[in-house]
Amino acid sequence: GGFACSGGVQPRPGGAGRGAAAPPPPVVIDCRPVPGEPAVIATYDNTLVLLSIVVATMASYTALDLAGRVTHSSGRTATLWLLGGSAAMGAGIWSMHFIGMLAFELPIPVFYDGWITAASLLIAVVTSGYALSVASRRVLGALSLLGAGIIMGGGIAAMHYAGMAAMRMSPPIEYDPGWFAASIGIAIAAATAALWLAFTLRSTTSHLAVAGKLVSALVMGCAIAGMHYTGMAAANFAEGSTCLVAGGGLGLSPEGLAAALGSVILSLLIATLVASSLDRRLATRTARMLGEVEQANAALLAAQESLRESEERFRSAFESATIGMGLVSLDGHWLRVNGSLCRIFGYPESELLSADYQSISHPEDLQADTEQVRRLANGELQSYQMEKRYFHKDGHVVWVNLSVSAVRDARDVPRHFVVQIEDISARKQAEEALQNMLREQALRDPLTALFNRRHLEDAVEREFARARRNGEPLAIIMVDIDHFKSINDRFGHACGDAVIRRVAQLLVGGVRRSDIACRYGGEEFLLLLPGAPASRALELAEVICRSARDLHHDCDGRSIGAVTVSCGIGLFPDHGATAEVVMKAADRALYRAKEQGRDRVVLAESAIRRQG
Ligand code: GH3
Ligand code: MG
Ligand code: MG
Repeated sequence: GGFACSGGVQPRPGGAGRGAAAPPPPVVIDCRPVPGEPAVIATYDNTLVLLSIVVATMASYTALDLAGRVTHSSGRTATLWLLGGSAAMGAGIWSMHFIGMLAFELPIPVFYDGWITAASLLIAVVTSGYALSVASRRVLGALSLLGAGIIMGGGIAAMHYAGMAAMRMSPPIEYDPGWFAASIGIAIAAATAALWLAFTLRSTTSHLAVAGKLVSALVMGCAIAGMHYTGMAAANFAEGSTCLVAGGGLGLSPEGLAAALGSVILSLLIATLVASSLDRRLATRTARMLGEVEQANAALLAAQESLRESEERFRSAFESATIGMGLVSLDGHWLRVNGSLCRIFGYPESELLSADYQSISHPEDLQADTEQVRRLANGELQSYQMEKRYFHKDGHVVWVNLSVSAVRDARDVPRHFVVQIEDISARKQAEEALQNMLREQALRDPLTALFNRRHLEDAVEREFARARRNGEPLAIIMVDIDHFKSINDRFGHACGDAVIRRVAQLLVGGVRRSDIACRYGGEEFLLLLPGAPASRALELAEVICRSARDLHHDCDGRSIGAVTVSCGIGLFPDHGATAEVVMKAADRALYRAKEQGRDRVVLAESAIRRQG
């Protein structure tokens, strides 16, 4: 350079050398052009220019990234991101500008006014804050974009020219109007493009979008740097310019300062990016987790609702069932009972709930029931049904159709039993009556309704055994209708049947409750008289003969007239020790009655008497 500087500052080799080396130059620098040397020519340090572009690109990338963060956060987090983001981005843009300034080498030592420099930094931060808030708006129309671009561009330009003013050159720097306007234009265009890109790319996270962001950041970085260097080109330093700033405060060499500033700013930007990426991941994860929690919540609510519905359905079915229903604990206590169940057992609900299952069960059925319950609890059975008896509160037996199933938990362990009880007492009674009737019928003769011979054999054995045991007498009377064949012959079989029925009625009317009357053969009857001595047997036989004789029979409007019968009597123990012998004796007596002319009673001859 063509300067000669006083104050101990050595002219730089070739006038285009590096900035002043430490230690810093003294307080006031007064550079005056050496006569005959060329005018003030500024040169650039290429490394620093490159560094300034890298910083500008990083700042742009950070800005793009942070716009997304601010958009996707809310409340205090969004504010923090806006503040931190403005600081990082503003510092980035500002340091790009400052490194650019340091790359700009004047042949004179240059220092910067601290306050104006700080003001330019503040402008950069405020401008960045504004830009971020614009880029994170929900919608951004073309006009607002342009307006915001103008404001942001103006801010960057203001920062730039404030930074220039910090040099406090004397005489003041003159600016070429063309370059000046171009620098403002570029600032606004770069700011508008930056805002638009930030707004457009803020929500994207794919790899392609990251690449897009990188390219955009590079373009924006170059544009911001372009604005700076255009602005620098606008600056004209008058010959004999001096820098009025006192050294010492910022007395670092431009290289050292630039390297320090560059690395600090780069670290700051990288830290910001890392924080932003962590926050994004956290936010994504949180969002995903929130989504999952919400889904789980919705599923839970739906499950609860359907559970409530099915419980409600169960409850109303339970309450209104005409069948008795109850829940029974594993140890046999009623947990819940419905109205029908209470009615079946005759207990009010409170009393039934305090009674246990076993206590009202009929003891004869309890064992079979308990066995089934055991198999149900074991899992051998899914459910079981049985007909069993319970005791009504008033003591009578209630027949029910019981069906029991186990309610199991998720691990298949039974929790309690569901019991359904249908009152079948009426059916059971009818069944019992029918069965009794059938049993009875099997013992009865259909024509006369007297006992038949089958029943007689059992009864005779039983009564003889008892008579032997008790040492009591017993009589057998055999009754046979006289000349019955001729009735059949003269009046027909049906009339014969009618006569048989009348004689049967006559016999039934004559015997006691403990006596057994039986139709022994066609028109032959047998009376078994437990406890009857000879006198009573004879008396009864005489009555029968007399009554038969007095009976007048009619059939189909025709008179049959009187019918007589003959009787033979056998006695225990007089005529034999066994049923067979006594019956044979009675039969022989009857035969003799027929022989002796019929219509009479003959007592069997006693063996002793016969021997005698
Ligand atoms: P006796 O005085 O000797 O007893 O003369 P009887 O004619 O009654 O002779 P017997 O007792 O041997 O005859 C039995 C007859 O009774 C034979 C048969 O035709 C008739 N008989 C048997 N079972 C029935 C029946 O269920 N209904 C009718 N109508 N007749 C019967
Ligand atoms: Mg006979
Ligand atoms: Mg006969």
